[in-house]
Order: sequence, then C-alpha cells, then structure tokens
Amino acid sequence: MATVETTHLSTPRTAETPFVNEPFVDFTQPENERAMRDALARVESMLGLEYDNVIGGKRLKTEGKIVSVNPARPAQVIGTHQRAEADLAEQAVQAALAAFPAWSRTATTERAALLFRAADLIRERKFEFHAWLVFEVGKNWAEADADVGETIDFLEFYGRQALKLDAATTPIQFPGERNRLRYLPLGVGAVIPPWNFPFAIMAGMTAAAIVCGNTVILKPSVDAPTIAARFFALLEEAGLPDGVVNLCQGDGPGFGSAVVAHPQTRFVAFTGSKAVGLEIHESAAKTQPGQIFIKRTILEMGGKDSIIVADDANLDAAIEGVVASAFGFNGQKCSACSRVIVDARIYDTFCDRLQSRVDRIKTGDPVENFYTGPVISPKSHKKVLSYIEIGKGEGRLLNGGKAIETAEGGYYIAPTVFADVSPTARIAQEEIFGPVLAVIKAKDFDDALGIANSTEYGLTGSVYSTSEEKLDRAREDFHVGNLYFNRKCTGAMVGAHPFGGFNMSGTDSKAGGPDYLLLFTQAKSIAEKR
Ligand code: NAD
Repeated sequence: MATVETTHLSTPRTAETPFVNEPFVDFTQPENERAMRDALARVESMLGLEYDNVIGGKRLKTEGKIVSVNPARPAQVIGTHQRAEADLAEQAVQAALAAFPAWSRTATTERAALLFRAADLIRERKFEFHAWLVFEVGKNWAEADADVGETIDFLEFYGRQALKLDAATTPIQFPGERNRLRYLPLGVGAVIPPWNFPFAIMAGMTAAAIVCGNTVILKPSVDAPTIAARFFALLEEAGLPDGVVNLCQGDGPGFGSAVVAHPQTRFVAFTGSKAVGLEIHESAAKTQPGQIFIKRTILEMGGKDSIIVADDANLDAAIEGVVASAFGFNGQKCSACSRVIVDARIYDTFCDRLQSRVDRIKTGDPVENFYTGPVISPKSHKKVLSYIEIGKGEGRLLNGGKAIETAEGGYYIAPTVFADVSPTARIAQEEIFGPVLAVIKAKDFDDALGIANSTEYGLTGSVYSTSEEKLDRAREDFHVGNLYFNRKCTGAMVGAHPFGGFNMSGTDSKAGGPDYLLLFTQAKSIAEKR
C-alpha cells in the first residue's frame, strides 16, 4: 500500500487511513475566541490587496478589475482582482491542455499528497481562513468554521478516494485473462463555484478534478474572489505544478460561458443557480467545430427545501431545527429551509413559538459574531426585499419583513417569517436565497408529504416526528437527495451525508461521497490473454 508523505506536522495517509471529519471549533473557549479575534485583526491588516490571475504559472493583470467588498460595510475593500474577459478563455484552456500530459501521468500518490499538504496548511491557518470568510461574505464565526472544516474534509476525503480508485480492479477475473480497470482523467475542465460556500465548494470541486489527473480553469464567483485567490496561493505553496489549476477571476456570462463553450473543455463542474446551471447544460451540449468528445457536466443547483413538522414532533427540537435551517447564514444556503410544513393540529402553537424564537435572533456585524449578518450584495438585497413584498400579499407576516439600516450601509434584512402561505404561492415555490421562511399548514402527514414534493426542486428535506411509521413513509416518498429526520436540513458532513439533489436541484453528484470522483474520470477496461 502506497504511503503518502505530507508536511512534518501530519501523519502519512494511505487509502485506508481512517477519515475523520474536522472537529468544529468551540468559540466559547476563551483561547479560541482570542485566536479568532487575533486572526480578524491580522486579516484586517491584509485587506485591500491586489491579486493576479494565474494562467500556466504566469501572473496576469487585466484592464478591468473586480473589487470585492465586505457586505457588512461596503466601503471596506477585501481585495481587487483581475477581470478576465471571454478572449482569455483560449489562453487558459491552452495552458490547462499543456499541463495535462504530465499531470495526468503523475502518480496518484503524488496528486493525493498535494491535497493532504493543502489540508495540513489550512489546518495550521484555520482561524485566518475563518476571518477571510467573515470579511468577504459575512459569515458568522461558526458558519465560517463549518466552511473551512468542510474544505479540509473534502481534501482529506478525495485524497483517500483517489488512492482507492487507483487500486480498483474488475469485480471478476475472466479465466485465462488478466483483467484491469483503470480510472483515467477526462482532460481539461472548467470549475465554476458559487459565492455562498466560497471555500468548501470552490476547493472541493477543484480538488476532486485535479486529484483524478485533470487540469482545470478555476473561475470563482465575483462575489467571493479573494478566498479563491488565497486558496490558489496555498495550493502553490503545497506544490501545485504550473497550469494544473489556472485561476481566472471573471464574470460568468463573459469569461465563464466562453470556457464552457470552448471545444477543448472536456467537462464542467458547476455549483450555482438553476438558471445558470441550465444555461451551462445547454451550451455544453452543443458540439463545437473541432470537438471530439461529448462534454460532461456536473451541475449542482438551487433548492426550495422543506421541513415537515408532524403532529407528534418534539416541538422544541423542531423549532430549533427550523430556525437553524432557515436563518443560519441568513438562509443563503442551497439546503436552507424556506418552507416549513406543519400539521394543522399543532399549527397555531407552532406559529406562536416560532414567532417568539425568531424575535430573539440577533442580527449584526459578522466580525462581532452575530447570529445573522448581511446578505451578500445589493443585488441580492433588492431581490430578497422584492420577495418580501410579494410575501406580504401571499401570507401573514410573523417576523421581520424589512431591511435593517446601519451606519456602515451593510446589506441587512431582518429574519422574516410568513404564515398561512399557500403551497403554490411564489414564496413557497421560488428560490429566494435569503432570510425568508414560509409556513404552510397541512391537513395531515400525507398532505404534508405531497406539499413537500410539490416544487420543481429536490435537494434537502427534513421531518420532525416521533412516529416510526411516518418516518418510514418519508423514507420512501419524500423525494429529495438529502433527507434528514429530527434534525436540521442544512450542515451536510463530508463522508456521512454525500450531497446533491434531484430534479431541478441538479445532477445529484453527491459531493463528499464515494461516487463523486467517478464523475471526473473515464474507466478503461484492459484484458490481457495469458
Ligand atoms: P450563480 O448561478 O449566480 O453563479 C454561480 C457561478 O456561475 C458563479 O461563479 C458565476 O460567475 C457563474 N456564472 C454565472 N453565469 C454564468 C454563465 N452564463 N456561464 C458560466 N458561468 C456563469 O449562483 P450564486 O449566486 O453564486 O450561488 C447561489 C446559488 O447556488 C443558489 O441557487 C444556490 O442554491 C446554489 N447552490 C447550490 C449548491 C448545491 O450543492 N446544490 C450549493 C451552493 C449553492
């Protein structure tokens, strides 16, 4: 069994080295709070730097810039980045193509070692990465920690999975032959992440692609470019060869779509909205002149996720789970609960208790670790407020319903709950991606399941019930990629909860699961007569 050496701080890993999820930081411990405040101060002194695009190891500047700001205080610049236009796609793809022959033939042990070294380096600088997430996207400390922990988990998990895949054999040896199955990389890929898990999803898709031997163009979100630039620098420090990852900050419709459409882009790993995912799917399906393969798309998209609260649920647990799922990181998660479906027999009690619990949520600057902070951008602020106006005509306002003004001009919105919402209302059907929750009354458990399944999405869902019979029904009939019982519907853990959704939520790629790397490979069967 090959052993993979990493930095002096870590133990060597093999495919069999047990994977353990990165533990969460307990910020109530004084030493951790101190470390976090120190990191925030350190990172604050690094804000406003300019970062380059890096293609084939070469630093590049462009005329146009992307300026990333703190959503809690938009006057604070987090970083200035180069804005790649569509014409840079050719250069980026050529650099990735040039790096492919050597990287695809690099031993899997070496490729996995790169991921393990990166995981070690992030672990060493964990609080610093937390701080970047606090400043750039407005995560509170625990949300930032979950994002950093998931990043480490992806690196550790995919490193091990790649080693396992490397050792795979055919299930049967045909008599008189030696049979082998090798998982080969696909080629050059586009990695296009969203802004909301700007570390974990960005790094996870990149790591999965390269550990299999592919080379990529990484085009981060314009709302979270700095965290990607810092990850790229860390990968270089860990030993990333030139051209294996080509960092190109740029707009989606300009640079992003040009890379997707390029005839030599073999695959696209995308996570983001339904609209953009479908556009990528369509563009990638169109064969370009000179293209000699069918492009593969790995598309993880939006959600309109439900929690069902049955008449026999533990209400304390249900209220806490719904609040955490709906308002954790201001509902800006694909897995966020945006519809809670409650049995008519407990509906009024549930609404009263939910209202008083949501009233206690504290909103403010993420640097000070408030439970909820700003939404990501003026565009998102406007969109969420417009849905709140729609909601005022579709339900009974229990909480919030307005923006919160601050002296610094942060993009805050009060946690908002509407009760008595029809299952077909717009706020019960369309992804809002903000702190807005619709409460829907169900006649009984069957009705609740029907309502839960009545959207075009199918990402996450949860059921609160003490009845095994009801949970069994949900196991069969609740049509989502990630189903949870008696717990929140957010917070998937790598390895334990492979993640991906049904229907318009995407291609169900199951990130963080045992099958994920197969999506980045093609299998070659080799039979030798003996
Ligand atoms: P988005 O779709 O606006 O952008 C995602 C990425 O696509 C960005 O990097 C963007 O620049 C790029 N892009 C935009 N237009 C493009 C185009 N025409 N061609 C190529 N690339 C293009 O999404 P977002 O606002 O960054 O993220 C929020 C969305 O992501 C929500 O819908 C959320 O549900 C979804 N999401 C899904 C998952 C999941 O695992 N299913 C996880 C996180 C977020």
